[in-house]
Amino acid sequence: MPAHVIDGKATAATVREEVADGVAGFVALHGRAPGLVGIQVGDDPASEIYQANKAKAAEAAGMVARRITLPDSTTQAELDALIDELNADDAVDGMLVQLPVPEQLSEPLIANRIHPDKDVDGFAPVNLGRLMRGEPGNVPCTPQGVMRMLRDAEVPLVGARAVVVGRSLIVGKPQSMLLLAEHCTVTVAHSRTVDLPALCRTADILVAAVGRPEMIRGDWVKPGAAVMDVGMNRTDDGLCGDVAFDEAVEVAGWITPVPGGVGPMTIAYLLANTLEAAHRRAGDNLKGTAA
Ligand code: NDP
Repeated sequence: MPAHVIDGKATAATVREEVADGVAGFVALHGRAPGLVGIQVGDDPASEIYQANKAKAAEAAGMVARRITLPDSTTQAELDALIDELNADDAVDGMLVQLPVPEQLSEPLIANRIHPDKDVDGFAPVNLGRLMRGEPGNVPCTPQGVMRMLRDAEVPLVGARAVVVGRSLIVGKPQSMLLLAEHCTVTVAHSRTVDLPALCRTADILVAAVGRPEMIRGDWVKPGAAVMDVGMNRTDDGLCGDVAFDEAVEVAGWITPVPGGVGPMTIAYLLANTLEAAHRRAGDNLKGTAA
C-alpha cells in the first residue's frame, strides 16, 4: 500500500492559524503586535522572494513586519550597527538576516551579534546551546516543522530509530537534537558516511537534508518508515526533493512531497518563533499560547 502523504501546506496553514490566534491574544495583553524584521544584503532574486514571503506571512498573522534591504557593499561594521539598533528596539521581537550574505560578511559574526532572544532563526550559539541543554529558546524553524508533521501524523517516536542525512547547523544538527529529545535513537549521516543506503534502510524515521536531487532511492527506505524530505532542489524539471518520491512512496509508511511538504512549515515556524519570542521578552508564561 502506498505511503500516507503528509500535506505540509495544510499543516502549515494550521500552524499559521494557531499563531494568528496567539497574536490576537498577545495584542490583547500588551496593546501591540509582535514585530519581525527581515534584513537582506544585496539584491539576490531568491532572497528577495523569501524576504517578501516572510513579511507577507507575518502581516497575515497580525504581526508588524519590516523589511530592510542593504546594498551589496555593506560592511560588517555597518551591519553590526544595524543589528545593535534593532537589538535595542523594544518594538522588535524577532529579526533575521537572509542567507547567504555577500562574502565580506561573516555568518558566525551575524549569529553572535543578534540578541539570542530576538534570534528567531535559532542560529545563535546561545540558542543552539539551549537546544542541546533542553532549555527554552529559539529553535531552528525547519526542524521544528518536521517534528510537528511527525507528531500530527502520529508517527511513533519513542524508541524509534532515526537517521538524519545531513549535518548542517540549519537542519541536520538541530533535527537530530529534537528527535533525541523525543527519545528516538538518532544517527546523523553525511558525505563521508560509509554505505549510506544500508544505514538508511535501518531507519524508522528518515530525514533527508542533503541538497542532492532524488539521491535517496526507494530501495534505501525501510518498509513502513516515515520519510521526511527537507531537500529543495531546482532542476530543469522544476523543484524536487532529496528523495526519489515515486519510488519511496511505494515503500514508506508516511512521506512528505516536494513541493508541498516540509517547505511551507519553515515560514510557519518562523512566525511561531516570533510570537514565542515576543511572549518570552514580555515575561509571559508561555503555557496556553499558540507558540
Ligand atoms: P548543507 O549544504 O548545509 O548541508 C548538506 C549536508 O548534506 C551536509 O552535511 C553534507 O555532508 C551532506 N551531504 C552532501 N552530499 C552527501 C552525500 N552524497 N551523502 C550523504 N550526505 C551528503 O545544506 P542544508 O542543510 O542547508 O540544506 C539541505 C537541503 O535542504 C537543501 O536542498 C536545502 O535547499 C534544503 N532546505 C530546505 C528548507 C525548507 O524550508 N524546506 C530549509 C533549509 C534547507 P558534509 O557535512 O559531510 O559536507
